[in-house]
Amino acid sequence: MQRRVIIAVVAIAVVIGALSLFFIFYPTEKRITIVSINDLHGALLPEGSNDGGIAQIAGYVEELRRQNPNTIVIDVGDAFQGRPISNLFYGESVIECYNAMGLDCLTIGNHEFDWGVDALKDLMDRADFPFLSANVVYDDLFEPYIVKNVDGVSIQIIGLTTELTPEITEKKRIEGFQFTDAGEAIKDNYNESCDVVVIAGHMGVEDEKSEGFIALKTSGVTADVFLGGHTHEGANWRYNNCTFMEAYAYGTAIGVVNLTMDRNSEIIGISSEVINVTPDYESETVSDIVNEYYSMVEEEMERVIAYSPSQLRRNSEGESALGNWVCDVMRQAFDADVALTNSGGIRADLEPGDVTVGDIFSIMPFDNTVALVELTGSQLREALEIGIATDESGELLHGIVQVSGLNFTYSDNEVIEVYVGGKPLKNDEKYLVATNSFMAGGGDGYYVFEEGNNLVDTGVLVRDLLLQYAESSGKIEARVEGRIRRV
Ligand SMILES: [Zn+2]
Repeated sequence: MQRRVIIAVVAIAVVIGALSLFFIFYPTEKRITIVSINDLHGALLPEGSNDGGIAQIAGYVEELRRQNPNTIVIDVGDAFQGRPISNLFYGESVIECYNAMGLDCLTIGNHEFDWGVDALKDLMDRADFPFLSANVVYDDLFEPYIVKNVDGVSIQIIGLTTELTPEITEKKRIEGFQFTDAGEAIKDNYNESCDVVVIAGHMGVEDEKSEGFIALKTSGVTADVFLGGHTHEGANWRYNNCTFMEAYAYGTAIGVVNLTMDRNSEIIGISSEVINVTPDYESETVSDIVNEYYSMVEEEMERVIAYSPSQLRRNSEGESALGNWVCDVMRQAFDADVALTNSGGIRADLEPGDVTVGDIFSIMPFDNTVALVELTGSQLREALEIGIATDESGELLHGIVQVSGLNFTYSDNEVIEVYVGGKPLKNDEKYLVATNSFMAGGGDGYYVFEEGNNLVDTGVLVRDLLLQYAESSGKIEARVEGRIRRV
């Protein structure tokens, strides 16, 4: 009997001992790391010697995962548009890097529509991760959100796209897409039963006036983390228990949010920082992918995309065939009444014969985007007057502005007659004008665009439009036809 009691006592002691050991070594806290990248814009290569690069970002992610395997990585939109190493492959190179990096999801940014729905679907097919947007509807193309289970913690990630998208995107690219209210979309998709709610919204979060902040406020729900984008700002601040995070653009920085959770998966601590991406870390796998695409960029420049039956020349002192072609493409793409571009932005003539991708890069080496603005007739006339302005010796100050959708006559420093779409210009009438971001920002003395209404930068590179139009028509034809006449 006594022996039995001793055995029982020993057994109880062992169990108690084991339990206390269990409580000592069973982790009472868990850490979740959320890495965000926004507005990469295809910048796979470092932007400067000490600044960015997707292989370097992937190196940071590897290091963060080594420190904490409970790490998720989110792209918050505008991943593909903006650099030849991405644009020339319609974003395929970015997807390959992200697949290798192990991205968890990607939010649809406004620039994800730039190459049309088929190109977007192709990218989605190639990706090992879902594309999210709760406020853009096109059949069931995008998931509104995903729920990730990370070490027993359920994390809901809701995607949102800037509500400005329909205004700043080429119309035909978004045909059939429905854009809905971002605040409503948060409310409708918010899952209270998840331990952590993250909003990955391609919209600014830099202050209390930002689109993301307002969307969350109007939704009436509380999120734990709001990863923003689109405005290319740096943001790292808290309001109402939500951390707002945005990490500039072009892969030069990443956002890192660390959540500490207790045993019941409640958040008990949160820290966050915007980290500048330097060459301190580099993923070999991703670096190999980038190098492979870089050598293909050089090959791509030689590819023939169209034919030009005649030489198209520039002319900074009058109308030019090449200026007409550039302006026609800009005007047609955005269904504008008028397009204007500065002669100085067109950097090479187009020789007759085969036209390569590299030829279009030579004509338009600048990364200028198309801007849209509403000008009154008198403002439009002022814009033309800036183009014909001369210095004391009679030399043109900026070079004649190249035009589409209008024709005008001038003498000395005076614009005489202007016709828009064949009808005389009316001073009070409003005209939708497409121009380039350089002029829209006051470049070459064109202050007048900033005085217009509803100025928006579409973010679409002028060069990309030229490439697309050249390739789809297969032929580049334009001539001098009396749009600009000195009388
Ligand atoms: Zn954007």
